[in-house]
Amino acid sequence: MEELSVKKKRLRRIALLMGNAVLVCVILLLCVWRVNSNHSDGMESAKNAFVSNVSSMRSFANEVLSSEQSACRDWAVYINGADMTMEEALEYLSRANSDDAVMAHILDYDTCSGYSSKAREDGDSAVDYSSFSDALASAQSAMNREKDGDVCITSAYTNPISHYQSVGFLENITLTEDGGQKDYMLIRVVPSDKIAEKWVFPHQYAEGELAMISEDGEYIIRASAFKNQNLWEFVRIYNELGYDEAEAVKEEFYSGKTQIMQLKDSKGQAYCLVCLPIEDIRTDAWYAAYIPTGFLETTRVDYTMVAIVAIGMLMILLFNSLYILDMNLKLRKSNTLAVNASRAKTDFLSSMSHDIRTPMNAIVGLTDIASRNVDDPIRVSDCLTKITAASNHLLTLINDILDISKIESGKLSLNAAAFSLRKMVDGEINIVQQQLKNKEMELEVNTDGIQEEYLIADELRLNQIFINLLSNAVKYTQPGGKIRVDVSSVLTGEDGNKARLIYKVADSGIGMTEEFMKTMYEPFTRVADSRKDQTQGTGLGLSITKKIIDLMEGDITCESEIGKGSVFTVTLMLPIADQTQAAKNTSAETGFELKGLHLLVAEDNDINWEIIHELLAVHDISAVRAVNGRAAVDMLENEEAGTFDAILMDIQMPVMNGREATVEIRKLPDETKRMIPVIAMTADAFAEDIQACLEAGMDAHVAKPVDMNKLLSALREALAART
Ligand code: ADP
Repeated sequence: MEELSVKKKRLRRIALLMGNAVLVCVILLLCVWRVNSNHSDGMESAKNAFVSNVSSMRSFANEVLSSEQSACRDWAVYINGADMTMEEALEYLSRANSDDAVMAHILDYDTCSGYSSKAREDGDSAVDYSSFSDALASAQSAMNREKDGDVCITSAYTNPISHYQSVGFLENITLTEDGGQKDYMLIRVVPSDKIAEKWVFPHQYAEGELAMISEDGEYIIRASAFKNQNLWEFVRIYNELGYDEAEAVKEEFYSGKTQIMQLKDSKGQAYCLVCLPIEDIRTDAWYAAYIPTGFLETTRVDYTMVAIVAIGMLMILLFNSLYILDMNLKLRKSNTLAVNASRAKTDFLSSMSHDIRTPMNAIVGLTDIASRNVDDPIRVSDCLTKITAASNHLLTLINDILDISKIESGKLSLNAAAFSLRKMVDGEINIVQQQLKNKEMELEVNTDGIQEEYLIADELRLNQIFINLLSNAVKYTQPGGKIRVDVSSVLTGEDGNKARLIYKVADSGIGMTEEFMKTMYEPFTRVADSRKDQTQGTGLGLSITKKIIDLMEGDITCESEIGKGSVFTVTLMLPIADQTQAAKNTSAETGFELKGLHLLVAEDNDINWEIIHELLAVHDISAVRAVNGRAAVDMLENEEAGTFDAILMDIQMPVMNGREATVEIRKLPDETKRMIPVIAMTADAFAEDIQACLEAGMDAHVAKPVDMNKLLSALREALAART
């Protein structure tokens, strides 16, 4: 089930990543498409712009041709008006022609031969056009139409005198010959280059070229980009077209369907061909313009830019994916930690429940046995002894839990005061004495190293450390074993007036493994499982010990070997006190006389009232009961001031709880009543409960079940403080 959901999650993650990747690709494709469509729109308008440019070039080109034609006509008009012979005409022409590159030829219509105004180097001026009949044909036909303003231009041919590629402009002249008149053809021969030179495109089309072609595609004036003799042949060859296809291209243009077409030139380069009819001056010829397509491209797709954007987006995607994966990993880890913590808690509750039930079971069972044997005092006494032991264990357990909770919430504070180290060690030995006797164990105590007896520390907590370690040594050593305690305290001189206290407990017990020692200071770690094992314990002792030592900025070390025993060493740096200080502290505790006190006890529970009433009586203290907080306040108010010496206040009570009652008491008009010591005596024993009691105005807090010693010293302190 779990595996399935993990698989599902993984699939979902992969789907998410794929979705992102697809999204990135779509965005990129849209970008490219947009740039391309911009580009093709741009291309279309660039082509149109070029066509209109060629269109305006056309009138300019026409001008150039017309001016050549009219120069020729001027000659003809002059010759015709002057009745010239051939020699005279040639002589006139050589004078009239100021342009070196241009020549004038006069031909006989019948023979297509004649003379040039300029002779060859050897003086020969004869020219023969019989092989250029094709070139002449179109010009002649134009001339025959006799339309004014027409340009009668030949196709390109080679000037027989200069050998330049040239075109000729034709006019008819009449010469005097043998007393009569004869028609001749006057040709103004102009090098093609000279004309093409003038057909210059404006700056933005600098690569553009213009040509003039006849109806069948023969070049009249050729552009250098156009190869072959014929434009359509050039188109056919370099675009690998069939004759029909080439014909179709030509038709497209000539029918006027197309004015511009993209083709490939002799270098395989794309160019645009524009074909426009030469209107005005000659209807059977066309202008053809050439421009490399690249020159028209205004906006290009910047693929580098696209690549940068693509890589950038992919990087972001990758980075984000890695980040998400990392987050997932962390979440999974913290989830595992949470699961482990919750498992530890469950384990703890299970073992707590067991640990509490065991002594409870003993108490319930032994009470039952005692009540059945009330007539047998020995049996009853035995039961009561065992009940006391079980109760004490239960109390230890609960106190340990309280301590751990206090420490873990950071609420354990140390109350440093002067004390006698020797007395403390003696007291501690007394406590374990009984256990030692039971197990027939030998204890050796060496206090020779105590050079500084009076120190300042939280005596209660220090005692707790020593007792934990010593009772563990007793617990985990088999009967007949040996224990040795070494205590020393030596003035160090460093860090002010401090002594180094070393407390060392060595036993010959069961020892511990290296592995176990790594985690022994964690709460609830035990080698023995009290659910299966007889050795009683909570697994909290070492944890509390270590935490208190940390709080005191001390150090604890342990050496242990399975089957041989363990040595725990505690090192603490404690300020040195003098004897009088320590003595003052002890007397403050015992100083106040409690005998004959009269107390008010607010307690809703009958059994608890009975117990406390009885226990107080043992110490000659009398008490009256109030069944809730309200009753307590009323009784205090109604009785005379000074009737009660102090109030023991339960917290959880019906009608009015102990905290509310205290708040009321602290508002009473009578000063004696208002200032009466109030001690909380409650099962609410967590740090925040204690804090709440003090905030409500109580003097002290004593946890239930009541430890009489603690209650009495709290009473003593509170009374001493109020006087
Ligand atoms: P508890 O004694 O209540 O189980 P502690 O926290 O005091 O809890 O000790 C944790 C565990 O460390 C014990 O259960 C025991 O397995 C091991 N241990 C502690 N002190 C000793 C010792 N002196 N010798 C052997 N084992 C010990």
